[in-house]
Amino acid sequence: ARAVASLPGKEYKLEAETELRIEVRSVSDAKVILLQGKAEIFGCELVSDKVVDMRKRTTCAVFTWHGCTIKIIPESVYAYVSDKTPMQFYVNLHEALEQRRCKAVENNTDGPVTMVIGPTDVGKSTLCRLLLNYAVRLGRLPTFIDLDVGQGIVSIPGTIGALHINRTITVSDGLDDYPSLVFHYGSNTPSTNVKLYMTLVSRLADSLRKYWANLPSRCHNGCIINTCGWITDVGYKIIVDAAETFKVDQIIVLDNERLYNDLMIHFGSNAEIVLAPKSGGVIERAQSTRANARALRIKTYFYGDDNSGYTPHVYELAFSDIQIFKVGGPNLPTSCLPLGMKPEDAALKLINVVPEKSLIHRILAVSAALSTDEDIVQTAVIGFVCVYDVDVNRKILKVLSPSPGALPRHILILSDLSFYDIPS
Ligand code: ADP
Repeated sequence: ARAVASLPGKEYKLEAETELRIEVRSVSDAKVILLQGKAEIFGCELVSDKVVDMRKRTTCAVFTWHGCTIKIIPESVYAYVSDKTPMQFYVNLHEALEQRRCKAVENNTDGPVTMVIGPTDVGKSTLCRLLLNYAVRLGRLPTFIDLDVGQGIVSIPGTIGALHINRTITVSDGLDDYPSLVFHYGSNTPSTNVKLYMTLVSRLADSLRKYWANLPSRCHNGCIINTCGWITDVGYKIIVDAAETFKVDQIIVLDNERLYNDLMIHFGSNAEIVLAPKSGGVIERAQSTRANARALRIKTYFYGDDNSGYTPHVYELAFSDIQIFKVGGPNLPTSCLPLGMKPEDAALKLINVVPEKSLIHRILAVSAALSTDEDIVQTAVIGFVCVYDVDVNRKILKVLSPSPGALPRHILILSDLSFYDIPS
């Protein structure tokens, strides 16, 4: 690390309670080194002289409570210092949560259930990460619930899930090694199949309560729930339903007074609603940037990060050894549905998919279910493969998988999401 510290870079001296906002653009990765003082990235403390790698096309902020000196390599990386941060507000939120955890331990009850909501690009996931990291630094082990199917932080986009946090989350952390529970939804917006989305949210909430019931030491730590940025019309209804399903006791609304007001009226004394400021450092992403971030997330699932040198495995699956399903039928008018079936029922219907060329590039989730006697729709998934080729004559599906050998299970669920970055 000392050798890297002597490399040409740019040094920034930060006053107390300021942050250095760093934007690594597309050319190459960057390195951040703490030379003096104390600093943290989204709640994760930096270690002196230790290199922190930042991947290209990422942004972050190095915040210091008492002042520090930071070096960034290479010198050309875009960075600026800001003394206007909402960190004091955020740390107060953390302290209030900690008090509720102490109370939960005292009374032997479940810990705080907090939901972070707001439009896209206001720093929801970043605030979740900060609150989780601050909790871990006090020895707490909270659960992170991600309902944002657009980013797929816990797994890949198109899923929702729970992550049982057991160490601080670093800036380069892929979150793949934490114990997690993942449900496959299959699209990057809840609007595609609201009924399915809400069914899975409810299933996830049940699983969390069961997990806490079996592991009482975990339950006092509570959970932090991240949500989608869709806050109007049906999006609003989904958030309210999800909050009720998880029995949240606090909702943090980032940067939206109207939403704050609507929720105050809706929840009354049933939940505490807090309006929190957004950080000026949060990057607003264009639709295309968000799509790129999704593709990168899927690529990382199969290839690891750029520096890992990891390549996925490609193997063949006989059609006869697997079963592929899609959840939710086409939106048919009631008159076209089988007798007695309501349109909502079609939303959860399991439809058999016959493998054909059109599946190439599509993501398939590997269900944990052992047989179709189980409720496939509501069963967790254990991983993903990407369709690489379909040979209809030989009746063989070629897939890309992060792990070698045969598939551990044979039931696959088709996602709407595709992954194109496949080697030739
Ligand atoms: P949301 O979850 O609301 O869509 P995110 O938390 O994902 O928003 O933040 C959007 C982007 O802004 C992320 O890339 C994050 O790293 C970046 N970001 C958040 N806070 C800061 C900050 N204070 N300085 C620089 N970048 C930040």
